[in-house]
Amino acid sequence: MTDTLTPVLTDNWDADRAWTLASYEERGGYAALDKAFAMTPDAVIDTVKESGLRGRGGAGFPTGMKWGFIPQDNPRPKYLVVNADESEPGTCKDIPLMMASPHTLVEGVIVSSYAIRANTAFIYVRGEVLHVIRRLQRAVQEAYLAGHLGKNIHGSGYDLDLIVHAGAGAYICGEETALLEGLEGRRGQPRLRPPFPAVAGLYASPTVINNVESIASVPSIITNGAAWFAGMGTEKSNGFGIFSLSGHVTNPGQYEAPLGITLRELIDLAGGMREGHELKFWTPGGSSTPLLTPEHLDVPLDFESVGAAGSMLGTRALQLFDETTCVVRAVLRWTEFYKHESCGKCTPCREGTWWLTQTMARLEKGQGDEGDLDLLLDQCDNILGRSFCALGDGATSPISSSIQHFRDEYLAHLTHGGCPFDPAASTAFA
Ligand code: NAD
Ligand code: SF4
Repeated sequence: MTDTLTPVLTDNWDADRAWTLASYEERGGYAALDKAFAMTPDAVIDTVKESGLRGRGGAGFPTGMKWGFIPQDNPRPKYLVVNADESEPGTCKDIPLMMASPHTLVEGVIVSSYAIRANTAFIYVRGEVLHVIRRLQRAVQEAYLAGHLGKNIHGSGYDLDLIVHAGAGAYICGEETALLEGLEGRRGQPRLRPPFPAVAGLYASPTVINNVESIASVPSIITNGAAWFAGMGTEKSNGFGIFSLSGHVTNPGQYEAPLGITLRELIDLAGGMREGHELKFWTPGGSSTPLLTPEHLDVPLDFESVGAAGSMLGTRALQLFDETTCVVRAVLRWTEFYKHESCGKCTPCREGTWWLTQTMARLEKGQGDEGDLDLLLDQCDNILGRSFCALGDGATSPISSSIQHFRDEYLAHLTHGGCPFDPAASTAFA
């Protein structure tokens, strides 16, 4: 573990017109392609396996292993789909990456598609972020014109077409199988897994779906080698990642650091909490990951340690809230989000998120009674592990963890007959 930043993906973000092909090539961009084409596709997969890269979309599934699941004896076409539907509350790493350096992603797509023997790849972007879609489309066009995409790339004999697809702006379409439904032109609702997409994904063909940051990390692994990547981070959580800090911190933004860095170190790098205030609670990976408190400031931010602390590393969306924030109000806002975004396919989530919102709203207004806390936990029990996809589970995380850490604050709403916090003092939900 180290407390220093390791700018790799973010290295060029401040360069002049960093998003252009000229700027990217000036800094050695697209050199990883020739190195990859000199290797067999299996050797590229092995390199990514040896690097220990784990999915950066939240779940941390080993990327090379996922690629290795693609059945090469299946005669159907293989596809690579980049999940650029970043929507987890607090998560803001993929969109800045695609804006600042879209060619890093395009180069990663080409190397990764070559490894799994795909000749067609898609980048599925959130529909609301038109500026990102335009920037990606421009980068793809530049890459075609320069011979990095299309037929016989760099004279290698390898062909690849890359399509930028705009989603329709539903959080559920970040779930990989709902994303596939959307890409195929249907309503975005999750499919039953297994079969996993690696076996039967887009158009029932073998499909690798990876997060933007995972794919963008691939060129640097090919260029610098698996050992370089594996030498960073912790024993089981290798490499670096982009940590997005938001909320009551002096300098919010994206901080790229080895996995295993602590929140205390990141807050120092970000200039501390806003002046005169102290951390009260935080999320390690967006609102779907259970809340943590200042007692967890020294937990290494890697998959294992955050799990052992009772939460999940998730997307490394570190949302920081100081003592002016009402935790009950914060959790109510997230619960409303999950209710709104529930796709309605399964009863525990569709009905359960509605009931959670009702109970949370009653408590936040200081109505109801202490029994409502048990009712909330019971409602969570009936959703967690009983929903069709991870959205339902995620909806319960902020509720159960906030009751665990801040039960007294819920009770204070009841004794006070409403929220005891001065809403003007907090900027958390301004
Ligand atoms: P998961 O653990 O079920 O799957 C992770 C990946 O591994 C998937 O691509 C899956 O296909 C693959 N996989 C798992 N087991 C496999 C097997 N046996 N064979 C082949 N492939 C296999 O996680 P998930 O439900 O896909 O995603 C949940 C995560 O999404 C959460 O951890 C959360 O942090 C994250 N998330 C991210 C965002 C965002 O905006 N980036 C939003 C919401 C949730
Ligand atoms: Fe849809 Fe929610 Fe069920 Fe997922 S858990 S399938 S989002 S209703």
